Amino acid sequence: MTAVEPMTAVEIAVAVKSGRRSARSVVDEHLSAIQAGDPEVHAFNLVAAAQARARADEIDAAVASGRDPGPMAGVPVALKDNLCTRGMATTCSSRILEGWVPPYDAAVVERLRDAGAVVVGKTNMDEFAMGSSTENSAFGPTRNPCDHSRVPGGSSGGSAAAVAAGFAPVGLGSDTGGSIRQPAALCGVVGVKPTYGLVSRYGLVAFASSLDQIGPFTTTVADSAAVLDVISGPDGRDSTSIGAPQPRVADTLDDGVEGLRIGVLAELSGDGVAPDVAARLRAAVGALESAGARVAEASVPAAVYGLSAYYLIAPAEASSNLARYDGVRYGLRVDASSTPGMNTATRSSGFGDEVKRRIMLGTYALSAGYYDAYYGKAQKVRTLIVNDFASVWEQFDLLVSPTSPTTAFPLGERTADPLAMYMSDVCTVPVNLTGQAAMSVPYGVGHDGLPVGVQILAPALGEPVMFRAAAVLEASL
Ligand code: GLN
Repeated sequence: MTAVEPMTAVEIAVAVKSGRRSARSVVDEHLSAIQAGDPEVHAFNLVAAAQARARADEIDAAVASGRDPGPMAGVPVALKDNLCTRGMATTCSSRILEGWVPPYDAAVVERLRDAGAVVVGKTNMDEFAMGSSTENSAFGPTRNPCDHSRVPGGSSGGSAAAVAAGFAPVGLGSDTGGSIRQPAALCGVVGVKPTYGLVSRYGLVAFASSLDQIGPFTTTVADSAAVLDVISGPDGRDSTSIGAPQPRVADTLDDGVEGLRIGVLAELSGDGVAPDVAARLRAAVGALESAGARVAEASVPAAVYGLSAYYLIAPAEASSNLARYDGVRYGLRVDASSTPGMNTATRSSGFGDEVKRRIMLGTYALSAGYYDAYYGKAQKVRTLIVNDFASVWEQFDLLVSPTSPTTAFPLGERTADPLAMYMSDVCTVPVNLTGQAAMSVPYGVGHDGLPVGVQILAPALGEPVMFRAAAVLEASL
């Protein structure tokens, strides 16, 4: 699939810091892989080759002069195109942001750069992160590197595909309802949705602010731990950032699962889950048991309402967040004879169908007369889900479920049926509503030979324990 030898992020950083590999040669190799493979895969909206080479040379100069470039020294990183990058276009895969160049970097971009990482480009996504297949991009879909006739999942499908194809060892995505975990599962890579507030959202273009979190895609669990340790931590510029510094995840990665109580989440593991996906979950449970975990069935009854609550709350917040694209402040402007006419013309031609659908759903759910019946009710359901999880955490340290009910589906299969598309998120959305941590770990393949992901769920700030289970699963394959 690719000429790049599959070095992990951790290996690259060690090799670059020791002078065994130059950052420049690492970056050049990945840029060649992108040039060869991306015309078909279309993981990237923008490849920043010149900036990446210049940055790599800076890292090499630092090494040559005896300075430590940091824990991500020379590691190529692919950024979802809803993360602001100073001087580099950020489109959210939408026409409405065409021509907009952010004047600042997102907090995660600053942190990765400060740690020595090299940004190689911005990745394709569903427009404004609304979707589960990356087919809602204004720039055309991304293809799954494992099978080009299939979707990579979404909305962070470009970052997942970039990592799966070997274009970059690290991708960043955003997860509002599953947009890191689901594409990670469908592309066969590791994807992490950290606890809400663990990673700063400063510079992430907002979709649904009470649900959005940024997290990594990598090929190994240890790489995700290393990236999370770099990007997490307090940030005064995000009012929802957790104030206290968190323990490093990488330090306890090899502590195993002996004695941990792990629940199989019944509501997310039964009806609607394809038999081959269910079989992989059973295999994962067996591996955790063999490693000394105590596994039992767990129930979070209100989780079955997760999808319904999510598809009211997320559009409601989106309808408010997207009000700022009015033709005045960002990107596209379509002129008209009056200002309201200009606003309407800009929004009508700048937004795609799914974004318009979400804005209409959200505006309806928030409107006087319907607020209590829709948005208010959904918020009550959200509290029920939070409470049900709180009682399950009294009995279990971790929970497991499939990440996605099916493997990667064919391009075009669900585009005409929004509800079928929304069903892709049934296993992932509950955790966004509660703010808890969850990740997807690749665990073999289904009947069609395509990757299956197992989801591990942890209580808020349970990342260290969650990663221990992920490491056990990875090692058991
Ligand atoms: N697929 C879900 C949606 O369309 C989740 C998106 C996301 O997590 N950004 O809303």
